[in-house]
Amino acid sequence: MQVICFNNNHVELTEKSYPTAGKNQAVIQVLMSGICRTDMELFDGYYHFTGVPGHEFVGRVVEAVDATSLVGRRVVADINVGCGACSYCRTGRPKHCLKRLVIGIKDWDGAFADYVRVPLCNIHEVDESIDDVSAVFTEPLAAALDISRQVHLKPDMKAVVLGGGKLGCLIALALRHYLPHLLLLGRHAKGLDIAAAQGVTTALISNDESLVERLGRFDLVVDATGRPQGVNVALDLTAPQGVLVIKTTSHLSSTLNLSRVAVEEIRMIGSRCGDFDQALSFLKHRLLDVARFVEAVYSFAEFGVAFEHARRPGALKVLLRHAL
Ligand SMILES: [Zn+2]
Ligand SMILES: [Zn+2]
Repeated sequence: MQVICFNNNHVELTEKSYPTAGKNQAVIQVLMSGICRTDMELFDGYYHFTGVPGHEFVGRVVEAVDATSLVGRRVVADINVGCGACSYCRTGRPKHCLKRLVIGIKDWDGAFADYVRVPLCNIHEVDESIDDVSAVFTEPLAAALDISRQVHLKPDMKAVVLGGGKLGCLIALALRHYLPHLLLLGRHAKGLDIAAAQGVTTALISNDESLVERLGRFDLVVDATGRPQGVNVALDLTAPQGVLVIKTTSHLSSTLNLSRVAVEEIRMIGSRCGDFDQALSFLKHRLLDVARFVEAVYSFAEFGVAFEHARRPGALKVLLRHAL
């Protein structure tokens, strides 16, 4: 089968043998996949990943030794693969398993391939009302929605999402169902306009303005800027006893004024992966239109061109169609 590998800052389309399903595993034929910022970081070598990248995908089960009824079903798969034995795994939190592997990110071949092997327990069936394009967004949407499980969201909260990229927009579109007064701030109109068209209140910001002077402080601030300095701006915007949710992951470190955190009793919460069923439910009930974030769809064979496109500054989602 054909797979993508990142070798010395080159994208390579190469041949690899078909995966076979082991005990409690399935093989999925990939129908569609999405390129994400994490893939670009893998490409740039930050996580020393070798193997096949790709973690946002939808596909059809072609082999499942211990669950033959799954064969033929259209599915998505959670990306964290825990050891199954530790206290995190046994309490439904494999994303924090110390021995975890991550599909397409850490020691497990991903979905930029014709076929991908996944554990059965990672699989979630996709309702037929959800098309392939929307299904590819299950993973990032689940990550966006994780905040709704971590923070007690109250409708009268003054809340802001910082970052008008794909993740910031998804967070705003998801959380606005809990927080009617949510504001989304970003530097580029492209993403903001898509969110605004779906009912999110948005505002363009510039580098050299004081956001606190302009907007005041907020009970809930989500940093989805993707930049290490973003969390400083987010902390500035957080009101005393407010909650600051950190979504940005960066290979660079940040410096924060932690005495403000102590004096103003600010709660800081890190947030990563979320619940696939919750995301699939949002997609099924059409609570947001993720397809508007798709900038281009390429065939899998055109991966190199697609990847260059995805790396353009300000690019929205670039998808790959693998098979029909
Ligand atoms: Zn991703
Ligand atoms: Zn574990």
